[in-house]
Amino acid sequence: GLRLRGLRKSFGAMAVLRGVDLDVAPGEVVCVIGPSGSGKSTLLRCVNHLEPLDAGFVQVDGLLVGYEPRDGRLHESSERDTARARLRMGMVFQQFNLFSHLSALRNITLGPVKVLGRDPAEVEAEARELLARVGLAGHADKLPGQLSGGQQQRVAIARALAMRPSVLLFDEPTSALDPELVGEVLAVMRDLADQGMTMVVVTHEIGFAADVADTVVFMDEGVIVESGPADRVLRHPDSARTAAFLAHVR
Ligand code: ATP
Ligand code: MG
Repeated sequence: GLRLRGLRKSFGAMAVLRGVDLDVAPGEVVCVIGPSGSGKSTLLRCVNHLEPLDAGFVQVDGLLVGYEPRDGRLHESSERDTARARLRMGMVFQQFNLFSHLSALRNITLGPVKVLGRDPAEVEAEARELLARVGLAGHADKLPGQLSGGQQQRVAIARALAMRPSVLLFDEPTSALDPELVGEVLAVMRDLADQGMTMVVVTHEIGFAADVADTVVFMDEGVIVESGPADRVLRHPDSARTAAFLAHVR
């Protein structure tokens, strides 16, 4: 699971995260919604330590990400320790970020072989299973350019899963897709949720959040305005800001 405490982050004079606390239990699916510029992507990037925090801390499975306690304070941890904690989190971006010169299969096997040092034959067998799991069994040898956007995003999800993360972070995984390709990616994500994957999903797909999320978090101006069971937050929000946002996006 994930534990976020007191996360603060500014870019210059602009405070983008202004004290974010969040717990994600193992197997929980949290959807993060909120207006453009509210800090959702920054939150994920800080969780993953792609951006260093100004204050607060992140733990994944009890392990601090990017920092270690020393002399009663938190200090930047070694690159090795940071990399190790970060390996527990898989990230799926809006732009799929596949290697364009590598086949779907090689995109998936690269990390487990090069980073985890696992046996290539074993990893390849597993990668083929993952491709089947995301509905791409026949596409192992295709280059990203030979796949549709929805197929590329499903390869990106398989690639994240191949690292055996304990948490998957998604940043608007369907917002770069043509509308007719959104459903196939959401279906794969729904399967993962059903299989007990721990997920944090930044999304504008309110229908997906309503169907799949255990918890919905509404962010605005760098804080969590409200969070709770998906049903409650989406149908009976406590905050007028949440209600106004939902009225606007529906
Ligand atoms: P969207 O829904 O449009 O993706 P968001 O909620 O993901 O928005 P962020 O991308 O986290 O919002 O950005 C929050 C604010 O921080 C914005 O005002 C953005 O311009 C600013 N910001 C984000 N990253 C940086 C950066 N690296 N340097 C300077 N400002 C940044
Ligand atoms: Mg964003």
